[in-house]
Amino acid sequence: MTSEQDRSPGLAARLSTIDESIVDAARLAGRDPGEITRIVVTKFHPASLVRDLHALGVREVGENRQQELTAKAGELGDLDLRWHFIGQAQTNKASAIRRSADAVHSVDRDRLADALHRAADDDSFLDVLVQVNLTDDPARGGVAPGDARALAEHIMTLPSLRLQGVMAVAPLDEEPASAFARLRAVSEDVRGIEPSARWISAGMTGDFVEAIAAGATHLRIGSAITGPRPDRG
Ligand SMILES: *Cc1c(COP(=O)(O)O)cnc(C)c1O
Repeated sequence: MTSEQDRSPGLAARLSTIDESIVDAARLAGRDPGEITRIVVTKFHPASLVRDLHALGVREVGENRQQELTAKAGELGDLDLRWHFIGQAQTNKASAIRRSADAVHSVDRDRLADALHRAADDDSFLDVLVQVNLTDDPARGGVAPGDARALAEHIMTLPSLRLQGVMAVAPLDEEPASAFARLRAVSEDVRGIEPSARWISAGMTGDFVEAIAAGATHLRIGSAITGPRPDRG
């Protein structure tokens, strides 16, 4: 078999295995699996893999670099995909991100929100999430939990942005359950300002079961579905 023929069966099997695990974890947590959106993170993989995923029914995909988002969304413009931008964003890339993304999970400062708003070129809305830094390292992406509410309030003043909720990556040196519990508290805080901002974007290959137990509505799963990321070199 050529690697081309090989890829899709493996991909299909991994996708259905993960989807079964999501359903099991949701049931275990007493949740309706239908309220959980599985985003497949396709960073570093070619557009052809995203096309294979689409053929398997995937509609929500995630990218963490603007250039890769722009290139793949452009190449796959014939497909009905929803693109989620999940990476750290430079303010000067905001308009390029807005042109290709349907949702930006990584809004972590007023200036980025302003730039995304200014980039609106029609009367469409952009879904945005406040990224929360659950580590003690201020260099990591996201606002401190205590600053999330102020950022959410700022986003609410920008009419082309639709505040949908919060996002975080669990720290490496902590049990994901306790980190995700803090994210859930921030989510409740944000919903105090905007009750419809219900998304909790949390959970990756290594911790999506814990994220589901903690109330995640949007999972960002990469390598467990796509296989290992190709070497960047
Ligand atoms: C890469 C990435 C993921 C997916 O990671 P996996 O461990 O491959 O599932 C999720 N969220 C963010 C922000 C990422 O950069």
